[in-house]
Amino acid sequence: MAVSKAVTGEVEQDVSETVVRNRSRYADLLHRPDPDSDDTRPACPTRESEKEYTTVPAAAYLGHYKLCGNPACFGGDWR
Ligand SMILES: [Zn+2]
Repeated sequence: MAVSKAVTGEVEQDVSETVVRNRSRYADLLHRPDPDSDDTRPACPTRESEKEYTTVPAAAYLGHYKLCGNPACFGGDWR
């Protein structure tokens, strides 16, 4: 069986490997990082809050955190 060369790319509307979460210990939502901001901010309107956010690896949190349902984050094509 022939093994074709790995194709790079094709990571776009997927859950990015890095997600954003509120620094609060009570936070349980993961947001998509805002690509237009230099700061660590969620892509959805939640970014307007004064809270501090931090980027985390999605894989480490997907089990016990919920994905933000806003279309700007994961509300759209998330399966
Ligand atoms: Zn969000």
